[in-house]
Amino acid sequence: MARSRTIIIAGAGIGGLTAALALTQQGFRVVVLEAARELTAVGAGIQLSPNATRVLEALDVSPRLAPFAVAPSGVNVRAARSGRLVTHIGFDRKDAPYWSVHRGDLQRALLETAADNEDIVLRLGVSVADHAQHVHGVTVAATVTCRTVRIMTEESGIALVVADGLWSAVRGSLGHLIKPKSTRRMAWRATIPAAQVDPAWRKAAVTLWLGSNAHLVHYPVRGGDVINVVAIVEDAKGRDPKAGGSWSMPGDATVLQARFATWAPAARDLIAAAPGWQCWPLYDLPPLPTWGRGVATLLGDAAHATLPFLAQGGALAIEDAAELAVQLARHRDDLAGGMRAYEAARQPRTARAVREAARNGRIYHLPGPLGFARNRVMAGLGGERLKKRYDWLYDWRVSREQ
Ligand SMILES: Cc1cc2nc3c(=O)[nH]c(=O)nc-3n(C[C@H](O)[C@H](O)[C@H](O)COP(=O)(O)OP(=O)(O)OC[C@H]3O[C@@H](n4cnc5c(N)ncnc54)[C@H](O)[C@@H]3O)c2cc1C
Repeated sequence: MARSRTIIIAGAGIGGLTAALALTQQGFRVVVLEAARELTAVGAGIQLSPNATRVLEALDVSPRLAPFAVAPSGVNVRAARSGRLVTHIGFDRKDAPYWSVHRGDLQRALLETAADNEDIVLRLGVSVADHAQHVHGVTVAATVTCRTVRIMTEESGIALVVADGLWSAVRGSLGHLIKPKSTRRMAWRATIPAAQVDPAWRKAAVTLWLGSNAHLVHYPVRGGDVINVVAIVEDAKGRDPKAGGSWSMPGDATVLQARFATWAPAARDLIAAAPGWQCWPLYDLPPLPTWGRGVATLLGDAAHATLPFLAQGGALAIEDAAELAVQLARHRDDLAGGMRAYEAARQPRTARAVREAARNGRIYHLPGPLGFARNRVMAGLGGERLKKRYDWLYDWRVSREQ
């Protein structure tokens, strides 16, 4: 592989794989170094709003994903205790779909598209630890684990994209020793075969139940065969505190059922139908004053992890990837300048999304009379006006098209 065009990406998550596709589309070659020895589908469902699906379409990922995607008509907001429909916020956008998909289907579509691209090399089981910049670009230091032996290895390229997620190990080599902060909130997630739930929940729609200090979201994925359910609660009980940040830690269903005992029967029935739950404690990443240095930069959750209350973390990583590729292509002879242009384009928007997600979290969980008042206000505003509040998010386009 010719070194002069090769960009190294640390992390093969949604952000890293999308960046690989976007950069090769601009004529770069890419080596993706991924710590996991095998890429398994962690987590369950993910909503992909038009700002993300527009990018996936441009990168030719959509044809591989479309057969497994569901296109929800919108969000049905419901009151937790009464089950009453508060409002419906439509997703109808003309030029790009709103999709709900299984993360495994998204990951497979990205990996298959990457596998067809001879300018992308994916190395699994390679954990990036550090990097050094020099006159030719960057050299990253990584460890490869072979059975029980760990071997140090190096990889060189013209630039480095750090897409290793919320708990980024490489962020430190860019001067950020900051650690994510616990929010004391817990996301519980489950998937249920669609045949086992009330037919009302099989419809192509996202349902959002708002309750006191908790909310519940569910939508169909896998072409409608499976219902993805996420319950978010303010307290971090029910999960083994020693479990770390893995998606695959089991949660105690009885704790969750007790937490939702006063909710409408339809919500409780759905929770009871789940064959098992996994728990994920939610963390905040304080805003970073800078994302990069020289020919290295952060991307996705490593740069701006966002709480899931706007369903945008993955979408923002996808946007980052598209913008980075365009800026580096514009600055082929000054990649450091391209990195700074990418950061300048992305920082205000991602910071706004992080703020809005945190705000949604507060609003979604308003207790007692405040929650009742919130539902009245939402119903009064109506779906059409609420929909317009998302225009700034969903209408995004990469710089060249703006
Ligand atoms: C409950 C919940 C629901 C969500 N729902 C949505 C949603 O509906 N829509 C949406 O857009 N977003 C959603 N998100 C957010 C979304 O999941 C994340 O924002 C997204 O996965 C971030 O992608 P990423 O590629 O930046 O990081 P990750 O997906 O974390 O990928 C990082 C990759 O880097 C690898 N890695 C780590 N360290 C190293 C290293 N040292 N060297 C090499 N590789 C390394 C990891 O193994 C991993 O593969 C949700 C999040 C949660 C918690």
